[in-house]
Amino acid sequence: MNRDALVTLFCELVQIDSLSKHEAAFASVIADKLAGLGLDTTDDGVGPRINGDCGNLICRVPATADGFPAIMLNTHVDTVGDDTGIQPVINDDEIHSAGDTILGADAKAGITLILSTLQALDDQKLPHGELVVVFTVAEEIGLVGAQHLDYEMLQPLPRMAYVLDGGVTAGRMTTQAPYADNISFEIRGKAAHAGVEPETGINAIQIAAQAISQMKLGRLDDESTANIGTIQGGSATNIVPEVTTFEGEARSHQEEKLIRQTRDMCQKVEEAASQAGAEANITTERNYNGFALGPDDAVVQRGITAAEQVSLEPNLHKGGGGSDANIFNEHGIPSVIIATGAHKPHTPEELLHIPSMVKCCEWLLAIITLQQ
Ligand SMILES: [Zn+2]
Repeated sequence: MNRDALVTLFCELVQIDSLSKHEAAFASVIADKLAGLGLDTTDDGVGPRINGDCGNLICRVPATADGFPAIMLNTHVDTVGDDTGIQPVINDDEIHSAGDTILGADAKAGITLILSTLQALDDQKLPHGELVVVFTVAEEIGLVGAQHLDYEMLQPLPRMAYVLDGGVTAGRMTTQAPYADNISFEIRGKAAHAGVEPETGINAIQIAAQAISQMKLGRLDDESTANIGTIQGGSATNIVPEVTTFEGEARSHQEEKLIRQTRDMCQKVEEAASQAGAEANITTERNYNGFALGPDDAVVQRGITAAEQVSLEPNLHKGGGGSDANIFNEHGIPSVIIATGAHKPHTPEELLHIPSMVKCCEWLLAIITLQQ
């Protein structure tokens, strides 16, 4: 794989802004690049439904030989947060951002790898099966594009998917990811003048504090976590606060443990509220379902064999977060996340390790062209 070409393409891509729900201009650049390879892209039309300016981009690359499985390649086109005007700086083997912004290697390293691999397949006229390339929108704000994707357009479903949204270590595949719930709490107490008649009030903030202090939070065990992440309430120091709202989440690789933890967090709030004569309104929502694939699954097996073919040590990893792979697995497409060379995502220290990206590109090419 040509290192310079990968670096040039990556630097071009990160300089084009693509905030969640504002991906249209960037998506058209991707579509143009695919058109340059003689490939058509289709927008699945979900943009208006998710208040975005474009939908997910789907591109079918026809098979050039028989005997290969149909493989889906995916990554997301949006970058996290609201950083714009990203300027990449090349420093020996690493690319950083010039300012205090993210770099956008999450997931533009993945896009670089997909486009470069399609280019290599075309240049070298390599035999491969059908490829279904899916660029999702609005991943960073809750896997929104993947959740709303028009899966009818993927029929017949690809046999497996590789999501290029992983870490720095070439050869690493995330084959397991947790289940996750989001929980929103509202406590309604009673307002009163804090100095004149506090005894007639019911302090919603105090109830929230009691409930949260009773919860098990943080790392619960080696496969479960929980967090309260936001809290709002009250209006002035001289008013007993009537309402407070707070939000949290729980995750676990075991669905039963997740259900138990979510129930426990809700119970703590219900108990504290009822003891104080307040009202608790709670909404829980399954954010995504987990998955667990192993070496017996074709998608993992292919990743391992291809890694060995390009002298990489395959490394199966249990992830702690959700990604579009969770949603694809839910929809019946066995999916793993593979490394791209990107490191420290979602921070100003984010970087791309160039030799890792080059190796990941060789790996992806091997995955696609592997004859089994
Ligand atoms: Zn990402």
